[in-house]
Amino acid sequence: MSTFGIFLTGMAWRGGFIGWLKTLYREAESFMLVNGWIGQPFGVGSGVRQGCPLSPLLYVFAVDPFVRRLDCGALCGVPVGVAGEPPLRVIAYADDVSVFVSGAVEAQVVVSEIEQYSEASGSKINQDKSEVLWLGVEGEGFVLPDAFPVPQQSVKVLGIEFGPADYGKSNWEARLTNAEVEVKCWKGWRLSLRERVDLIKTYLIPIFLYVSTVCILPESLYTRIYSCFFQLLWGSRLNLVKRDVTYLSRRNGGLGMVNPVVFFSLVFLKQFFGNMLAERPPAWVSLFRNWFRPFLSCWESGGLVKSLRVKHGELPTYVAPSLKILRRWRVTAEDIKSLPRKLLGERIVSVVCHAPLALRDCPGHIMREGLRLINSERIPFKFRDQAWLGFHGRLFVRGNLKYLSLDDRGCPREECRGEVETMDHFLLQCPFNVEVYKRGGECSGCSFLALHVLCRVGIWSIARSPGF
Ligand SMILES: [Zn+2]
Repeated sequence: MSTFGIFLTGMAWRGGFIGWLKTLYREAESFMLVNGWIGQPFGVGSGVRQGCPLSPLLYVFAVDPFVRRLDCGALCGVPVGVAGEPPLRVIAYADDVSVFVSGAVEAQVVVSEIEQYSEASGSKINQDKSEVLWLGVEGEGFVLPDAFPVPQQSVKVLGIEFGPADYGKSNWEARLTNAEVEVKCWKGWRLSLRERVDLIKTYLIPIFLYVSTVCILPESLYTRIYSCFFQLLWGSRLNLVKRDVTYLSRRNGGLGMVNPVVFFSLVFLKQFFGNMLAERPPAWVSLFRNWFRPFLSCWESGGLVKSLRVKHGELPTYVAPSLKILRRWRVTAEDIKSLPRKLLGERIVSVVCHAPLALRDCPGHIMREGLRLINSERIPFKFRDQAWLGFHGRLFVRGNLKYLSLDDRGCPREECRGEVETMDHFLLQCPFNVEVYKRGGECSGCSFLALHVLCRVGIWSIARSPGF
């Protein structure tokens, strides 16, 4: 019987389950896949099959005896500071195992446990992927056995770098640097504004999603993350329309754009405070809760978070920013408990980033006509962006392109000499254009009507927005 079979028998698994495993692994073959080419099959004598959903579970069974031996008392571990909670000795997620040792003797215990486990299971530790980090001491705390690698400034656990400095910031910075490279390449693609928002939701958000569940987005990176998201939306550094307007739903004249700061901050708050408020919170919450306890008594009984009156340096880096956000966005414990993240996000954006469409005195029926028009399926696909920009008074006409240093902002038609090419000139006054709309309308029946509504609404926005 294999070592793994002995493990399973020792765990009192019944024969049937072991029989199924044997069937699944009997004469199992693998292939090399290189650049899409499948190589010759070969038998697998040890290890688990790559890509098989059963593999991680089997690995958990295999590593379990090792983890249990380390967790049973030979190590005194790190106290978590909560009465009744056992100290932290070992944490494991599949093959990613972290052990806490607090003396030379304990380090030696770990070395001999690894040796014993290697001998029993045939598995070996990967020295290249092993890392050591000193916690809570300046320099070396004690002499490490030779089997340990050289201590580092930070260690990577499940893809997140942990270290003594502000590790949240460095993890976010690393993701941002990757995302900025992607955005540089994607922003040149010929896509409509709506397609860009879809691209942001499908490909840009996932780059940060995992890190946002572990580290809160630091305030010092807000500008950079906004810039990253909006450069992809506009295709350049220029904001064509106010950012706050883009967060509105498409039905209400926006683009349904994500506010990255609200989105990622809420992912973190929901993960941490949602678990803290759960009826049966997971064990790690007690550690987290310990830091927050002094500040949350009022919040947990329905009020808002009290302002911080301690030096931030004495707290973990996520405490002060989390409390600040809860306070600033007036998020209550009930909101975290009962509202889905999406709804809570929409509420915050509608309050914090509320931008009225620049159509303050626009009669309701013109506004409704305009909103119906920019979302109408009748508008040809390639005119959608133009209609949306027109609605917001930002159509690309010479009088509007303030960021370009143009010598001549006049209408290019001979008969309009001296007239600035504003949106109302372009849509209403220019005799040449009006003739084109008329003829186009006679042919198609709808385009004239469409442009007519577009210009009415566009003009309202021009008339009411400052700077025009
Ligand atoms: Zn003209």
